Amino acid sequence: SSTSTAVQLEHRFADALPELSVPWQADEAPDPRLLALDDALAASLGLDPAWLRTPSGLAFLTGTQVPDGARPVAQGYAGHQFGNYSPRLGDGRALLLGELGEVDLHLKGSGRTPWSRGGDGLAVVGPMLREFVISTAMHALGIPTTRSLAVVATGRAVQRETPQPGAVLARTAASHLRVGSFQLVRATDDLDLLRRLLDHAIARHVPAAADAEVPALALYDHVVGVQAELVAQWMLVGFVHGVMNTDNMTISGETIDYGPCAFLDAHDADTVFSSIDSGGRYRYGNQPLAAQWNLARLAEALLPLIDADAEAAIPSAVAVLETFLPRYEAAWTAGMRAKLGLGDGADPQLVSDLQALLEANHPDHTGFFRALGAAARGDAEPVRELVLDLAGLDAWLERWRAAGPDAEAMERVNPVYAPRNHLVQEALDAATTGDLAPFDQLVEVLRHPYDERPGLERYAAPGPDATYVTYCGT
Ligand code: AMP
Ligand code: MG
Ligand code: MG
Repeated sequence: SSTSTAVQLEHRFADALPELSVPWQADEAPDPRLLALDDALAASLGLDPAWLRTPSGLAFLTGTQVPDGARPVAQGYAGHQFGNYSPRLGDGRALLLGELGEVDLHLKGSGRTPWSRGGDGLAVVGPMLREFVISTAMHALGIPTTRSLAVVATGRAVQRETPQPGAVLARTAASHLRVGSFQLVRATDDLDLLRRLLDHAIARHVPAAADAEVPALALYDHVVGVQAELVAQWMLVGFVHGVMNTDNMTISGETIDYGPCAFLDAHDADTVFSSIDSGGRYRYGNQPLAAQWNLARLAEALLPLIDADAEAAIPSAVAVLETFLPRYEAAWTAGMRAKLGLGDGADPQLVSDLQALLEANHPDHTGFFRALGAAARGDAEPVRELVLDLAGLDAWLERWRAAGPDAEAMERVNPVYAPRNHLVQEALDAATTGDLAPFDQLVEVLRHPYDERPGLERYAAPGPDATYVTYCGT
């Protein structure tokens, strides 16, 4: 296709649930410039990357020129933010352009909407490139996530602590339905609308649930399962989401909202990067419990669909919720066994003893598991350099080696390269002042996280400084 008019957007969400969005349009972008594009993702969506680089492609990517017949909307949702309920959240700086095949095409930073509250509706280059690089890394690590298609600088200055160059991120998602979408509708007491939202979610994410005895319970069971798997994957790679509010938890099981997220250097359950998470609610080690708390809120929203008498629905919803931690533990343990190069039958004590060792010694998370691969090949020195309690480590290594770890298998699941905070920051700072080279190189490295390549040593090493601060809404 050579023009945006050839792009066929659908509007299943807007048509099925008109109460949950308002037709809206993006602000003008005075001088659009492409900063990042995922060519492979574009091609998989049927979008010609060469066209996306043209002025008409950039107008499409910033929402300033929509395909014929397209009807962008801003979506409403509610949500618990740090445990406090906000009845009126929504796309305060985002638009759903429409659905492209099975996925949502969505813009972030596209201007004020009815949900902007005190915000300016805008986004700036650094944070949008952060979403691009981290979501790209997550995808390359095999972790379900919204995808970043492009970041376009708008040519507009945006006031933050200092004036910053504005940007729009174009992203895709299996959908933008969130726990908070259900909370918004539940609070209206409109049972018909709640049912339509359920039907839409089921059609998009779990078609088989339509035939279940209690479809709402089947959808809930599905969300509990995909979230258990997702959070286990975060924990295994050392990802700290940072703002696990219920409006940032998807029904699809994809990671969403890369505002204050970051990866661990040192393994430490208490790690917090977000400037506003002073209580540590969303610290690394609390993510499974935070997810479980959010899933309880989803259950509350679904109760009247599980049983006409919402009170009577509680026991069956609780029974499903209670499967979350066992499912999380099973997924995490399976992932740890894989990271240790061991099969399904491996002694779970070996896994829990290693976890205790990590928590006591705080080694570099990514580096530790990669160095274990070398230990499986007979060279324990790299991993011994990362741990203070050598007696404890050596005793554990001996038991682990006796279990017969498969070094090759380990190298397929333990990345060499993670998005190191100091490298991400360096790349975003350079990009903000016009030098995209460090960003492009970082993205390229992170697209192939398991392939150790010569000359890339600095991408495999932890940063010089243990503290790193990230921000929401920038
Ligand atoms: P978040 O913490 O990123 O999930 O955002 C919470 C809410 O704040 C969402 O409703 C966002 O749309 C909204 N929001 C964040 N940044 C801005 C901004 N710069 N302008 C308007 N709304 C915003
Ligand atoms: Mg959000
Ligand atoms: Mg955000």
